[in-house]
Amino acid sequence: MKYLDVRGLVVAHGQVGPGTHILGIRAPEIRKGAKPGQFCMIDLKPPGAIDPLLRRPLSIHRVGPKGLLIFMYKVVGRGTALLSQLSPGGSLRILGPLGNGFRIDQSRPGLLIGGGIGTAPLVFLSEAWPKDVEQVAIIGGRTRADIEYAARCLEDTPSRVHLATDDGSLGHKGPVTDLMSRAMEMFEGRSPVVYSCGPGPMLKAVARMAADFNLECQVSLEARMACGMGLCLGCAVPGSRGDDSADSGYLHVCREGPVFRADQVSWEDYPCP
Ligand SMILES: Cc1cc2nc3c(=O)[nH]c(=O)nc-3n(C[C@H](O)[C@H](O)[C@H](O)COP(=O)(O)OP(=O)(O)OC[C@H]3O[C@@H](n4cnc5c(N)ncnc54)[C@H](O)[C@@H]3O)c2cc1C
Repeated sequence: MKYLDVRGLVVAHGQVGPGTHILGIRAPEIRKGAKPGQFCMIDLKPPGAIDPLLRRPLSIHRVGPKGLLIFMYKVVGRGTALLSQLSPGGSLRILGPLGNGFRIDQSRPGLLIGGGIGTAPLVFLSEAWPKDVEQVAIIGGRTRADIEYAARCLEDTPSRVHLATDDGSLGHKGPVTDLMSRAMEMFEGRSPVVYSCGPGPMLKAVARMAADFNLECQVSLEARMACGMGLCLGCAVPGSRGDDSADSGYLHVCREGPVFRADQVSWEDYPCP
């Protein structure tokens, strides 16, 4: 694993939805090796301070010219609230690129399924997608405002995009899995590979449905983590029995993930709030 710890310049920062922000950081050294599905650990401490001690993991949402890395994040607690106050022109330390990222299978179409803020890494995946391979994206959220921005980002990619909201304010009314069975008809008998990121209960449902359709499914998992490099072992999630990569029955999201084959995860024991 090759990662760097650098000071990045904040070049853009703005709100794109309720509690949702876009952060652009110039960090050419990290940008150079970044792959879809990888993440960075963002240090929120002002120079010289020790609080907040732990960095926060954020997926790479997009990349741009001149070493630009873009993150999309939701304010959920103290760290992300502090981050949202940072102005362009400021700087912060950033460690990355971390984790394995998605493995694009060029021989089969892709079905990208994202929920809420979990659409963040799927935009990078869709933008980096091989031109001659078909891709369909399904993104869902609680309401229109949760997915509107990500939907606009995906409009600029070759992906055919389908939307779902719990309240029906945008696209289909219901969960993303309703659209998954319809999307299968679009592939006309060919088997896509599913690439998914989102809340635990959604991933669990997507994994179950992919297994029913006999599809390969990659899921990007989230877990609380302190280091992002496999040292603290704080980000353990239960691995399925018989999976060799599950050290003592557990997978470490930062070191072996965050992207796993869905059948590597023990979904019965997976913590879903
Ligand atoms: C590999 C990875 C990639 C991620 N990518 C993104 C992203 O692109 N955009 C984004 O908005 N968030 C992402 N997250 C989640 C993000 O790291 C947390 O929301 C953030 O660390 C919360 O910090 P906080 O100090 O604001 O909240 P805290 O005060 O620490 O916690 C507030 C609430 O958020 C929950 N929480 C905290 N950390 C996590 C976590 N790691 N996973 C799930 N729930 C958590 C807590 O249980 C609590 O309910 C990612 C997490 C991982 C592990």
